[in-house]
Amino acid sequence: MEKIIELSGVNKEYTNKTFFSKGVKAHILKDINLSIEEGTTLGLVGESGSGKTTLTRMILRQEQVSSGDVTYYGKNLKDFDQSDDREYRNSVQVVFQDPYSSLDPEMKVGDIIAEPLVISGKYSREEIQDKVRKIMSKVGLAEDYTNRRPKEFSGGQRQRIAIARALISSPKLLILDEPVSALDVSIRGQIMNLLKSLQGSRNMSYLFISHDMATVGFLSDYIAVMYFGYIVEYGKTATILTEFKHPYTDMLLESNATASLDEVDESGAADPPSHINPPKGCPFAARCKYATDKCREDVPEYKLIGDDHYVACHRSDELELIKASSHKFKKNETEYII
Ligand code: SF4
Repeated sequence: MEKIIELSGVNKEYTNKTFFSKGVKAHILKDINLSIEEGTTLGLVGESGSGKTTLTRMILRQEQVSSGDVTYYGKNLKDFDQSDDREYRNSVQVVFQDPYSSLDPEMKVGDIIAEPLVISGKYSREEIQDKVRKIMSKVGLAEDYTNRRPKEFSGGQRQRIAIARALISSPKLLILDEPVSALDVSIRGQIMNLLKSLQGSRNMSYLFISHDMATVGFLSDYIAVMYFGYIVEYGKTATILTEFKHPYTDMLLESNATASLDEVDESGAADPPSHINPPKGCPFAARCKYATDKCREDVPEYKLIGDDHYVACHRSDELELIKASSHKFKKNETEYII
């Protein structure tokens, strides 16, 4: 399968300058290597502040990389001309977490969904109306909703509107940024099932971003676990959920089981380290109950340890995390359950 997006050795630094100081550097993303193949889903999981949003903004071309490369079908985003840029903006769409603030409250639903096609200038009025009707039916919205405004809809319906708008230009990659976390639990399953069936029928790729392992596991073929700007573990979904090797992955899975990260942080140091004054060795050491002196001195290498399974931990060979963990993911026909 062809790679749609590939990130190679991507770093992102910010310099926080003030009038009185030259500035302090904050290294937000560190040597990120990831790719997404056609028709597959990559889940990106980590707490807030782990670098998920910065990485997404770089794929959306809202931020430049400090070093490294991001390519789209092999072409570096840095080398895009105007026509590449136009095609890319149609082909890579995003659905945000909050369906309340992501839709213009003054616009009618039909106009919101049609807007990307109107901007493209490629379609007649009749063609656009036809495409809007078809995509609304596909995401489970009644045709006569076109003249209503977003405030007349529930959270789940608004997220369907946002999905319809993202899909109308037939994207190749859909970035789903916590698409169900603002919704009632009763609605989440409907939207997750909708996303799954849409992917099957349209052969789209997804980048699914969440702090929640259960929802990421439901949609993803591969999962990348981020901590403090590093990918600390990467592998096939079943591997990450049931044969994880990094203590942070274990902690995220445990937090799904207990619904609180703080409850499982036995060190008492709940906060991730500072980007301005980063720790010397493994960034997770202050929170890791398995940390040794070596962990506090040396940054662990991100290495291949099995079939498409990478981990950055000095002790991945010796720790028996699966046996020690109280949580267990079981796979049934449609979803992963803790
Ligand atoms: Fe924990 Fe050490 Fe592994 Fe870091 S390298 S996750 S501190 S065991």
